[in-house]
Amino acid sequence: MPVYNRIDEDIITALKAVVGDKYVLTDPERLAPYEKDESANTACYRQPEAVVLPARTEEVAAIMRLANNRKFPVIPRGAGTGLEAGAIVNEYGGIVLSLERMNAILEINEENLYAVVEPGVITARLQAEAEKKGLLYAGDPCSGGSCFIGGNAATNAGGNRAVKYGTTRDQIYAVEVVTPGGDIVELGGRVKKMTTGYALEKVIIGSEGTLGIITKLTLKLVPLPLHSAHILAVFEDADKALFTVNALQRARVEVTCLEFMDNECIRVAERFTGEKQVGSERGNYIIIQVDGKSEDETDDVCVTVDEICRAQGAAEVFIGNAEKIWYSRKIFSEASGAEGVVAMEDFVVPPDCIAVLLRELQVIRKDAGLAFRSVSHAGDGNIHLDVLKERLSQEVWEERLGAFESAAYDVVYRLGGKISGEHGIGGLRKDIMKRYTSPVELQLMKALKKAWDPNLILNPGKIFDVD
Ligand SMILES: Cc1cc2nc3c(=O)[nH]c(=O)nc-3n(C[C@H](O)[C@H](O)[C@H](O)COP(=O)(O)OP(=O)(O)OC[C@H]3O[C@@H](n4cnc5c(N)ncnc54)[C@H](O)[C@@H]3O)c2cc1C
Repeated sequence: MPVYNRIDEDIITALKAVVGDKYVLTDPERLAPYEKDESANTACYRQPEAVVLPARTEEVAAIMRLANNRKFPVIPRGAGTGLEAGAIVNEYGGIVLSLERMNAILEINEENLYAVVEPGVITARLQAEAEKKGLLYAGDPCSGGSCFIGGNAATNAGGNRAVKYGTTRDQIYAVEVVTPGGDIVELGGRVKKMTTGYALEKVIIGSEGTLGIITKLTLKLVPLPLHSAHILAVFEDADKALFTVNALQRARVEVTCLEFMDNECIRVAERFTGEKQVGSERGNYIIIQVDGKSEDETDDVCVTVDEICRAQGAAEVFIGNAEKIWYSRKIFSEASGAEGVVAMEDFVVPPDCIAVLLRELQVIRKDAGLAFRSVSHAGDGNIHLDVLKERLSQEVWEERLGAFESAAYDVVYRLGGKISGEHGIGGLRKDIMKRYTSPVELQLMKALKKAWDPNLILNPGKIFDVD
């Protein structure tokens, strides 16, 4: 890795000349919110040397040119809800470039079903504005109330509706990007098809702020579904609950959301809210949303889903109001955070393998002497584990966690999966990325990074280290 310069008074003056004095932060108190994200591993939190808040693409480009001239790292940041320390500085230091002031919804085009937005727009705000016009922005991470669209693109966020609509990458027509060298380029286009050279917009999406800074996005919108129904099936056996994914697939039932919560997660929600959750004694949840063009069509699908869930062993199946059905799932992240999780996993396997994965993880966990709770975007084959330290000493915890993770990664890859379905690699999972990615694939990624960012200015030391 190159040797970087510290942020001296000269650089601060030059940054102020670009964005204005008010938008360059150096006071430690004002830097504090930018030293962390939502990762459970607080050991990686680190104060940036400065935070810069540009308001226009040209300012972002000028900052990148300055950073190349003066050789200091730039770490792009959205809302800081990431879980892998992608938006915080590491041992290389540098500035955080926050996109929070670039937060305009520039256009919602009802006739042609698209929106143009700046990267600092909160995802739920776009969803709400689109909804007012009878449209749906289908990207829907559980953090939607606070994360930014730009951050969603940079991490290729998934979420609840990915099973039907795909991840953030599938919602994007085009992105305006500031390259690491400070050029401005539009990648992709508002077209249904395109074989005009490499699809670089697809490469930028999910690159976790290492290849370019996303400064504008043209997003797909779809008509709001006319009718939706929400189903909660309670299973005593978690395995059987997850095998429902296979049964629904076999029956060709098209679902919009297909989520799983194990019993411990339901209890966490119960402890947090103080309200009794249905089936909390022994139950595990499958939560399903189906959409249809008419009430009759939706009802018919519900009947099929009900039959399938019961045939799979559901003790109870409720069809009802979205708020009630989704309540514990929506509250879970906050509830879990309040109990202090120490390690999180984001495994993804082919959806038909999700039940087998959980079964094998349970065996590994017992062997390692650890406990976990799991929620899953089950329809996407994506499972999140909160691995619990409980009363273990730090030394024993680290040893057991290491043993558990190694065995778990082996199973994930044997089933054809990957270590991250949606949270990314960031600064925290580089070693695992290196261990489980083919050397050829890793070399291709590094070559891409070096070609786009020869001075390694943009978010260095994230995803992988460049030799
Ligand atoms: C409670 C909770 C629930 C969550 N649920 C989900 C979920 O359901 N699905 C899911 O996928 N994730 C989920 N996440 C993780 C997180 O919210 C997503 O990764 C989200 O997309 C991050 O957006 P952000 O704006 O907070 O980005 P940040 O955390 O600020 O940044 C994340 C990464 O993107 C880069 N970046 C940010 N903005 C830009 C930009 N404009 N240009 C270039 N690079 C940029 C940063 O450098 C960093 O590497 C959840 C997190 C929490 C805390």
